[in-house]
Amino acid sequence: MTPITSAERRPGPIGLSPREGDGSRPVLEVEQATKVYPSEPPVTALGGVSFTVARGELVGVVGPSGSGKTTLLHLMGTLDRPNAGRVWITGLDTAALTDRWLATLRASRIGFVFQQFFLAEHQSVLDNVADGLLYAGVPQAERRARALDVLALVDLDRRPNTRPTQLSGGQRQRVAIARALVGSPAIVLADEPTGNLDQATGQAIVALLRDLHDRGVTIVVVTHDRDIAACMDRRIEMLDGHIAHDSATDKPKTPRSRPGNDNHAPEARP
Ligand code: ADP
Ligand code: MG
Repeated sequence: MTPITSAERRPGPIGLSPREGDGSRPVLEVEQATKVYPSEPPVTALGGVSFTVARGELVGVVGPSGSGKTTLLHLMGTLDRPNAGRVWITGLDTAALTDRWLATLRASRIGFVFQQFFLAEHQSVLDNVADGLLYAGVPQAERRARALDVLALVDLDRRPNTRPTQLSGGQRQRVAIARALVGSPAIVLADEPTGNLDQATGQAIVALLRDLHDRGVTIVVVTHDRDIAACMDRRIEMLDGHIAHDSATDKPKTPRSRPGNDNHAPEARP
C-alpha cells in the first residue's frame, strides 16, 4: 500500500488540483461491486456494478428512489465496504486498507456533499469549512486561510463569521461544497445536493458544480432528478441495483482496452 504522505496533503499549485495517487489510474474504479444489507429479508442494493471515473469528469448517477444510488455513493466514498467486488481510489485498493487508513484516504482525497448539508450550526461559516482540514494535519492559521480561498470560489467569502442559521438553504449548500473542496480532494461525491432546495436554487448549485468542473474538479452527483442529471456531462442510470445505461458507452471514440473497466469518457482535458 502507498502511504499518504504529508507532502500529498499540501494543496496543488492552484489549490484545487486533484492529487493523482497513481496518475496512470482513474480517480475511481468500481469493479463488480455488490452490496447486500443483512436485513430480514436481506436486500441486494447493488448487484455487481462496474464503472470508472477519470480525472476531471462530471458524472451524474441517476435513478429512482431505491435503485441503489446512496449505497453506491457510500461504496465510492469508502463509507461502507462492498460484500463482493473492489473499489480503487486514485489507484489505491480500498479493500487492502484498514479502517484507519480509509479514514485518512477519505480525509485527504474525497470531498462529500449531502442533501442535508450537515453543517455545525454553532460554528462560523469559516470554521465549518476550515474543519474540513482537521484530519489532514494542517495548522489552524493555514486551515482558515485555505477555507477563505474556497469560500471565495462559492462566493461566500465576504461574511466568513456568519453562522449557518443565518444562511439560506442554497448558501448552506455552498458552505458544504466549500468544506468538501478545502482539502483539494481527488474526487467530490454529492448525494442529492439539490434535494432540499427549490428549483432555482438547485439550478444555481448545479451551475456552481459545473463551474468547479471547469476548474478541473472531478465530481460525481447522485440524484433522482432527471433535470439535474441532464446537466452532467456523463450519466450513469441506475435501476434495481444495476447500471441500466452509462452514457460514456455512447461515445464511439472511447477506447475499450479493458471491458467494463475502461468505459469512461476519455481524459481529454489538457
Ligand atoms: P437510493 O439512494 O437510490 O434511493 P439506496 O441505496 O438508499 O437507494 O437503497 C437501495 C436499496 O437498499 C433500497 O431497497 C433500500 O430500501 C435498501 N437499503 C438501503 N439502506 C439499507 C439498510 N441500511 N438496510 C436495509 N436495506 C437498506
Ligand atoms: Mg439516496
